[in-house]
Amino acid sequence: MRIVVLPGDGIGPEITAATLTVLRAASEQYALNINLEEHPVGHASLEKFGATVRPGLLEIVRSADGLILGPTATADFRDENKGEVNPSKFFRKSLDLFANLRPARTYGGSPDRFGAFDLVVVRENTEGFYADRNMEQGNSELLVTPDVVISLRRITRRCCERIAQTACKLAMRRRKHLTIVHKANVLKVGDGMFLEICREAARAYPELVVEDILVDAMMAHVVRQPQRFDVVVATNMFGDILSDLTAELSGSLGLGGSLNVGADYAMAQAAHGSAPDIAGRDLANPISLILSAALLLAWHGERCGEARFQSAAHGIENAIAIAIQNGRVTRDVGGNLGTEATAQAIARILRSDAGACS
Ligand code: NAD
Repeated sequence: MRIVVLPGDGIGPEITAATLTVLRAASEQYALNINLEEHPVGHASLEKFGATVRPGLLEIVRSADGLILGPTATADFRDENKGEVNPSKFFRKSLDLFANLRPARTYGGSPDRFGAFDLVVVRENTEGFYADRNMEQGNSELLVTPDVVISLRRITRRCCERIAQTACKLAMRRRKHLTIVHKANVLKVGDGMFLEICREAARAYPELVVEDILVDAMMAHVVRQPQRFDVVVATNMFGDILSDLTAELSGSLGLGGSLNVGADYAMAQAAHGSAPDIAGRDLANPISLILSAALLLAWHGERCGEARFQSAAHGIENAIAIAIQNGRVTRDVGGNLGTEATAQAIARILRSDAGACS
């Protein structure tokens, strides 16, 4: 398996290096023969090549079996004409990675203030209120006069259908419970269509229990009783906001793993940003990106019918759970280790655990 690795900005290089420590251990333990190929992206690429995503990088990424993208300093990148493209948007749009899967669960041992839970937010990834990705050309935030801005949201039947299908299929493999999150009481046309298409898709799976909840009320329900949810499907921005909340409810935003999936490609990416407030201080929790990489291995294993990749993904998740339960983790989840030391602890558990299971 050939994986392109783009470390990104802020804490990106720290958590990416830590993720590679765990991936190398998994590759050895499960005979995965993973080949890792690093390239700069974000500020490092802007300095070296004059563009946050340099020409030719997309082709390199496409030719690989998967991509790991570290968080990037999106807020710094303002002018695409000056090479300041948002790398996250660029790869999601160019590779049509329409589904963003963001699992959130408690592990026991971490501070689970809201009780144990295990859910996945399925977020549409290619349109919605994200002004930089829902137009063929240009940007959908318009400065009409110096004092008037119009931000357009795109919702299409096709994108609703494919995210609804992804969510239904995932729910059928889990606890068969689907929650549709929307704001169809106000965004009657766009969210009305999203809601109706999700309901319609779910009708093909009679075993699914389906409910829908307004996005504002959802914030209260998920804090009050997160264990009530299994698979939650949402449009782009609502899913983005909700999944930061569910990651934090699980113990920390630093546990927020995520996989961006298209028809034939996947990109592992932490749910959070580049965290400049803690960059370079050995405080960043690498578990978000390690979990994302595990999701990528599982996706690859399923696609190629190679069960050892799925075993490796399970092994990594188990090792993470044990590390959290034993406090062998960063401060945000109750430990006192640094970023790389956390990865080494997870790699050590993975080696002994995989050894014990084989
Ligand atoms: P953030 O997600 O980077 O950080 C929010 C808070 O969570 C901060 O207190 C941070 O220290 C903490 N945090 C985040 N990741 C952590 C980790 N792994 N371990 C421990 N704590 C962690 O949000 P922000 O500070 O608002 O954004 C910073 C930059 O990231 C901005 O430029 C923003 O545009 C960008 N961003 C990028 C992505 C991406 O690359 N996919 C996503 C969101 C934001």
